[in-house]
Amino acid sequence: MIPAAFEYHRPSDVAGALSLLSTHGDDARVLAGGHSLIPMMKLRMASVEHLVDLQDVAELKGISVADGHVTLGAMVTQHSLIESAELAEAAPIVREAALQIADPQVRYMGTVGGNVANGDPGNDMPGLMQCLDARFTLQGPNGSREVAARAYYEAAYFTARADDEILTQISFAVPVGGYAYEKQKRKVGDYATAACGVVLAKEGALCTSASVAMTNLADVPVWSEAAGAALVGTDCGPEAVKTAVAAAVADIDPAEDNRGPVAFKRHVAGIIIGRAISRAWSRA
Ligand SMILES: Cc1cc2nc3c(=O)[nH]c(=O)nc-3n(C[C@H](O)[C@H](O)[C@H](O)COP(=O)(O)OP(=O)(O)OC[C@H]3O[C@@H](n4cnc5c(N)ncnc54)[C@H](O)[C@@H]3O)c2cc1C
Repeated sequence: MIPAAFEYHRPSDVAGALSLLSTHGDDARVLAGGHSLIPMMKLRMASVEHLVDLQDVAELKGISVADGHVTLGAMVTQHSLIESAELAEAAPIVREAALQIADPQVRYMGTVGGNVANGDPGNDMPGLMQCLDARFTLQGPNGSREVAARAYYEAAYFTARADDEILTQISFAVPVGGYAYEKQKRKVGDYATAACGVVLAKEGALCTSASVAMTNLADVPVWSEAAGAALVGTDCGPEAVKTAVAAAVADIDPAEDNRGPVAFKRHVAGIIIGRAISRAWSRA
């Protein structure tokens, strides 16, 4: 299929992109890596009259680690997340998760901003950013504001971002302790049947903090406060992991689709969550 006709715009800064969004209103959409939007346009599931390509906007492209914080520009590609030595040192869970997205061709083009902005429940970065308690910066005609990743997703493809806003950057505190991003998929290049990110800290023999978030197990990413609470104060042994897994599975709401029925997804989720907790603990 080829997409319906559209007008192509290529601004060189955020101000230019915002001005195009204001001028064309609902008829305009930004284009990042194009690996979600272009297929939707080709399938005629998205109709866009004005495509505002962000690839020349240099201010959206950096990765920085400073003062205990990581900041990712929205147009940083998934490939760049994998290649950055600074990021691998500060937050290796990002590299571990990015390596499990699709395949190298998709990762060369797909951006972290497009991945989190889109609101696709299958995307891996939203769950990861909830696990890391990241904040998203949204810039619009009236200035910029920050939204917590844990408050950004409202329903599949519905988010806190207004149509005239651009997600410009993602930031989070450098995570402390052990980490793991586990993903079960049908084959290489597929979206998750179930995936889970865990970051936890250990002092002596006990867990002092834990964050557990899941991908593609509801129509939004799921951060399970109860699962994290079930781990804190324990030695993350089999009983504690079992309790945390039960708490996390109680928070998901998977739907039947071509990846399997609900009971199967709950079963797979339990295994993946348990593995993620155990691996994070072994690295803490
Ligand atoms: C075969 C295949 C397999 C895939 N498998 C996976 C997978 O396993 N895991 C995974 O996470 N992803 C997967 N993806 C999706 C891929 O990672 C996409 O590239 C990504 O989700 C979207 O990023 P993008 O830069 O391509 O965004 P685009 O496709 O350009 O944009 C997506 C949407 O987000 C909006 N948008 C983009 N950037 C911004 C911004 N800065 N501010 C506001 N709105 C914005 C666009 O307007 C559009 O509505 C797969 C894609 C393909 C084609």
